[in-house]
Amino acid sequence: MLIALFAFCGLVIGPLLGIIVDRAVERERPEAQHRCQQCSADLGPQSLIPILHWFRSCPSDPSHRNWRYVLVDVGTAAAFGLAAWRFGSTWMLTPYLVLFAVLVVMSVIDIETHLLLNVLTYPAFAVGLFAVLSLSGPQGHEDAIWPAVVGALVFGGAILLAFLAYPPGMGLGDAKLAPTLGLALGWLTTDPLAAARLSFYALIIGLLGSSIVGLSLRGLKVLGAKAEIPMGPGLVVGTMAMVALSERVIGL
Ligand SMILES: [Zn+2]
Repeated sequence: MLIALFAFCGLVIGPLLGIIVDRAVERERPEAQHRCQQCSADLGPQSLIPILHWFRSCPSDPSHRNWRYVLVDVGTAAAFGLAAWRFGSTWMLTPYLVLFAVLVVMSVIDIETHLLLNVLTYPAFAVGLFAVLSLSGPQGHEDAIWPAVVGALVFGGAILLAFLAYPPGMGLGDAKLAPTLGLALGWLTTDPLAAARLSFYALIIGLLGSSIVGLSLRGLKVLGAKAEIPMGPGLVVGTMAMVALSERVIGL
C-alpha cells in the first residue's frame, strides 16, 4: 500500500521534475510548461497533468515523441516505490526520496546531454552531507556518520581514479556525482567496511550495466558506433539497487 502510494506520488511530481530537466537541457526557458523535444512547439499547461500528459501529442506534428517526460515520470515512480519498499514509514524515507528525485533528474539530463551539471552535483553532496550530520544524532544513528564518509571517499575516489586512468571512459561529472552516491550507501550501515563494500558493489553494477546497455544500443544501431555512453545513469541505478538490497547483501 505504502509502495503504491509513493510510486503514485512519483508519477505526480514527475512532470514538475521534467521542468527542471527542460531548463537544464534547453537553457533559456522562462515558462513553466513543457515543449516538444523535437520542434519546440508549446505543449501547453496540460503537459503537467500527471500520467494523462503521456498521451498528449505534439500540436504541430502528432508523430513527435516526447520520451523524456515519460522517462522522468516512470523513473521517479520506480525510485519512490523502491525507497518506500526499503524504508517503510521510517524517518530515513524522506531523505532518500529527496535524493532519488534529484538522481532521476540528473540521470535524464545525463542521457540527453552527456553532462552531469555542477549546479546539481555540488549542492546534492552539500545537502546530503548536511542531512547526514544533522539528522544522524537526533535519530540515534550517529554510528553511521563515519561509514557515510567512508562510502563517499571510496565511491568518489574509485571514480576519480577511473577518470584519471582513462578519461574517455568516465566523465569528471561522474567523479563529482560519486561522493553523493557513496554517502547515501554508507549512511545505511554502522560498519565502515560494509559501507566500502556497498559502494564497490554499486560501482560494479553501474559500470557493467552502463557498458552492457551502451554496447547493446550500439549493436542495435540505436546509438552510433562511436557514440559516447553516459555512465551517470548506470551509477545511479547501481546505487539505488544497492540501497534497496543492502540488508540482504551485507546482512545489516
Ligand atoms: Zn513537435
